[in-house]
Amino acid sequence: MSIKTSAKKGAMKTTSPKVSVKREVEKLLKDEKIKNELLKLGGERTLEVMKLLTKYSEDEEIADKLNVKVSDVRAVLNKLNEAGIATYERTKDPETGWYYYHWSIHPNKVREWYDGKINAQLNYLYSLLSEGEHYYCPKCGIEQAYNFSEAMDNEFKCPYHGEELKPIDEAVINRYKKKLLK
Ligand SMILES: [Zn+2]
Repeated sequence: MSIKTSAKKGAMKTTSPKVSVKREVEKLLKDEKIKNELLKLGGERTLEVMKLLTKYSEDEEIADKLNVKVSDVRAVLNKLNEAGIATYERTKDPETGWYYYHWSIHPNKVREWYDGKINAQLNYLYSLLSEGEHYYCPKCGIEQAYNFSEAMDNEFKCPYHGEELKPIDEAVINRYKKKLLK
């Protein structure tokens, strides 16, 4: 009995093996909506960096694998860090005085970050309803909202598509919300 208990305790203490982190990340990156938000967060290299973070922990190794500049990888890592998706530990080489960063990725934080982002976006859209008329282009999507004078300046046409701008009302936002939460 006591052996069983201590074995269980030990199992709980060990950090999850890289294999399951890799599987979790792969699963998340199959979700198109999450994928798009991640690309918006960290740019075009985000997904590749995330995948490599399940295998390597140093920015230089990742840059090497991707054949890009270390600064490009660091830019992505910093964005992931701000979102709570990746964290680092800093160690100092006692001989050279240089700092080394060991990164790890937390797939369980991705969903949390995504939900928070979606909620903030929806709150923003609903808040527009009480701030006068707003318009959107059906092709660009509701994320790009124009207030009345902006819409009028563009003659109620999308500056990118020439598409006729449509008013944003509660039904439009509800439809968008349904699509996001599907
Ligand atoms: Zn448009």
